[in-house]
Amino acid sequence: MKPVGKPGRTGELMPVEVALARLLALAAAAPIRDTETLPVAACEGRVLAQDLVSTLDLPPWPNSAMDGYALHLADWTGEPLPVSQRIFAGQAPEELARGTCARIFTGAPVPAGADCVEMQENAQVQADGRVVFTQSLRVQQNIRPQGQETTVGEVVLAAGTRLGPIEQGLAASLGCATLEVIRRVHVAVLSTGDELIEPGQPLGPGQIYNSNRVLLCSWLTRLGCEVLDAGILPDDLPATRQRLVELGDVDLILSTGGVSVGEADFLGIALREEGELALWKLAIKPGKPLTCGHYRGVPVIGLPGNPASTLVTFALLARPYLLRRQGVQAVEPLTFQVPAGFVWAKPGNRREYLRGRLEQGRAVIYKNQSSGVLRSAAWAEGLVEVREGSTLAQGDEVGFIPLSEVLG
Ligand code: AMP
Ligand code: MG
Repeated sequence: MKPVGKPGRTGELMPVEVALARLLALAAAAPIRDTETLPVAACEGRVLAQDLVSTLDLPPWPNSAMDGYALHLADWTGEPLPVSQRIFAGQAPEELARGTCARIFTGAPVPAGADCVEMQENAQVQADGRVVFTQSLRVQQNIRPQGQETTVGEVVLAAGTRLGPIEQGLAASLGCATLEVIRRVHVAVLSTGDELIEPGQPLGPGQIYNSNRVLLCSWLTRLGCEVLDAGILPDDLPATRQRLVELGDVDLILSTGGVSVGEADFLGIALREEGELALWKLAIKPGKPLTCGHYRGVPVIGLPGNPASTLVTFALLARPYLLRRQGVQAVEPLTFQVPAGFVWAKPGNRREYLRGRLEQGRAVIYKNQSSGVLRSAAWAEGLVEVREGSTLAQGDEVGFIPLSEVLG
């Protein structure tokens, strides 16, 4: 495992892109290589382990793009053509008899000898059953040629592609019943803090319900990870040590909380006893403190505990890390530039990820942007990125990262 990078000079905040680059480098140095073969239908959210190479041409034979008539263009002189066969999708046609046309339907193979399909709207069937065409015709019109989409031997999906409904459909179109994917990443999720209790229990004085646990467990499951839910760690060193030992073999320990300045950081102490842990002060809001290191050789990422901070740092840092561990190259969410529908008067020294929405094409933000307020994110459709040091007037461009980009 490579050493964890040090933050910049004392007092300096680490830019988001520096933190991301470091995490991605750590991920690339600890790739998960084990694979499993799954039915295509079970591959949602998983990462392809090997290039998917086509073993067939797609379409496998020329087929009709229209309901209409197939003909040999040179046979059309303006004289009506008799219909010599009817070809439905799924049938194997006979060679087209010269001087005739074939009734043909969408997706049906174009018969040998035909080089043109005319749609039925431009054809007139006479009383004697023969057909005339009312528009001028071109060779190859309305024919989807063999191999138009894909030819044998082409790499259709590269190793490292994340699989979703579209990729699964594409693999199926090529006849794949199974795919080889990277095995699930095993992630232990730890919540820290004496104030936390689980929903379902009555709330005692000074207590709050643990929201990060279910937030992260659910999110990780969506990302195709196998979650080891390690529960709440009390603010107590022996108990923390014990729980860490019990975690067993995982690919990542992901914790929340316990990284605020001045806090008795029992998790950090216990982790450092058998590993290495750096505290990064990030130029990100909500967020800022993040720990990164390893414990007994297992990578560790510690996210800040406030739920909106957990959300933002997971979305922008931990999620890309987890994807890169599986060999995914495109790990960063798409960011759209949209006009701001709000004013930002005070430039900050951290990059803000405001929970916002699009209204009439403009980004608007939730009224309360406190890092403790998860409702802001439930209201939001995306994260509105305001760069450090910048102010905004109405209509100025801001980055907008749809939450849908990061949630899956
Ligand atoms: P900490 O980093 O432990 O100081 O936590 C920062 C804030 O986040 C405190 O207000 C904590 O009570 C809160 N917090 C920490 N962990 C959780 C959690 N799992 N669920 C909800 N709030 C949390
Ligand atoms: Mg705490």
